[in-house]
Amino acid sequence: MKQKSVLIVFTGGTISMTQDPETRALRPASMEEFKQLVPELNAPDIHVDMLSFSPLIDSSDVNPEIWKRLAEIVYNNYTKYDGFVILHGTDTMAFSASALSFMLEDLNKPVVFTGSQLPVGVRRSDAKENLLTAIEIATAQDEDGDAIVPEVGIFFEDRFFRGNRTTKKSAERFAAFNSYNYEPLAEAGVHIRYYPGRVHYNDKHKPLRLRTRINENVAILKLFPGISEQVVRAILNIPGLRAVVLETYGAGNAPSDKWLFDALKEAIDRGIIIVNKTQCFVGAVEMGRYETSLNLLSAGVISGYDITTEALVTKLMYLLGENEDHPEVVKVLLQRPLCGEMTID
Ligand code: ASP
Repeated sequence: MKQKSVLIVFTGGTISMTQDPETRALRPASMEEFKQLVPELNAPDIHVDMLSFSPLIDSSDVNPEIWKRLAEIVYNNYTKYDGFVILHGTDTMAFSASALSFMLEDLNKPVVFTGSQLPVGVRRSDAKENLLTAIEIATAQDEDGDAIVPEVGIFFEDRFFRGNRTTKKSAERFAAFNSYNYEPLAEAGVHIRYYPGRVHYNDKHKPLRLRTRINENVAILKLFPGISEQVVRAILNIPGLRAVVLETYGAGNAPSDKWLFDALKEAIDRGIIIVNKTQCFVGAVEMGRYETSLNLLSAGVISGYDITTEALVTKLMYLLGENEDHPEVVKVLLQRPLCGEMTID
């Protein structure tokens, strides 16, 4: 049987930390220490190469430059490996996985993000299980040698999710992530069970395309009872602003105040794209279902359907970056799933 190969990229986060034997303080583990803590990485059936950021970073410090760097690493090593595993802090992992799903167009190999809730170098750590199963998923192939899950995803605890459907849900439990609006692509128990019917497959004859132009002029405006006109207008008047994620109630509803309609309409008339994203985790925006969303519809707000905030923010940055002078194209593509990030009935 052909030996499979995987590239592990260390970015940092809890998974890369160990406890100093003398001080007991947590500090980043060197790659050598990491290999000693996870000796299974030397198994003969999978060739493992490792590449490390220096310095390692907490994922709170991840930004679009880091997404570009990660996308470029995958792109530049694409033909050399069967799959990729990215070790990343959990805090912003869902944003990075979403961003890479858009930046790696026509991907045909797995890019599996994972991390852990406890550092690799402490006794009850979940790091080893997460990493070893992530490697299995990143190298899983069918009898023709094609990847079973050629998507950017997150493996955590016992489930592999499409990356652009995930949200970090717990700072305590080992099952730190969920994909509220899309079933997992694989589940790991005694066996790893794959669900190919849920996987987004690209045309395998198309080459991978790298899309790294990003426009960061995006804001999130979260509604709450009592939100003032001043707050709304301050956000909509940010200089250079190109798009807003409007976090609404329930099925996409907002207060029916005239000032809110006027403020949104004026911003849209100035060319700002506003997308309606529900504050609920489960379910979708249905503009027009209640009177309280009709206002948004007539102001020109676009539906975000069942997309996550993480996927919407990164999709907007990517679409605005790639289509700088074509807002009409951005609006059309926002209402179309590009790589399984939303469901439109
Ligand atoms: N603060 C850490 C990070 O996101 C938490 C973790 O890795 O779980 O980098």
